[in-house]
Parts: sequence; structure tokens; C-alpha cells
Amino acid sequence: MAYECWHCKADCVFTAQDQKHSFEVQNAKINQHRRLCTAMLRGLEPHSQRAA
Ligand SMILES: [Zn+2]
Repeated sequence: MAYECWHCKADCVFTAQDQKHSFEVQNAKINQHRRLCTAMLRGLEPHSQRAA
């Protein structure tokens, strides 16, 4: 499932592994309406990339 991070606009692919992670960490709340890049899902530094 390809998507764009709602926060940093990074192009991402939501994998089954990421989905499992987000369920475990965020209880799937964000996935309902907002999708973060995998880096953010994992609590890493956000991308500096921004849409103009
Ligand atoms: Zn992001």
C-alpha cells in the first residue's frame, strides 16, 4: 500500500510489518485517518523534505 506521509510528505509503502508495528505501538489509531512514514512510525528523525 503506497501512501504519502501526512507530516513530511515522504512517499512511503505501508508494509504488513509496518502495519503490525503500528498496531502494537499506536493501537492503529493514527492509521485510521493519518499515515506516517515508516521513520516516524518507528520514532526516528522525520524527513526534512517538505512539499512546497
Ligand atoms: Zn514522515
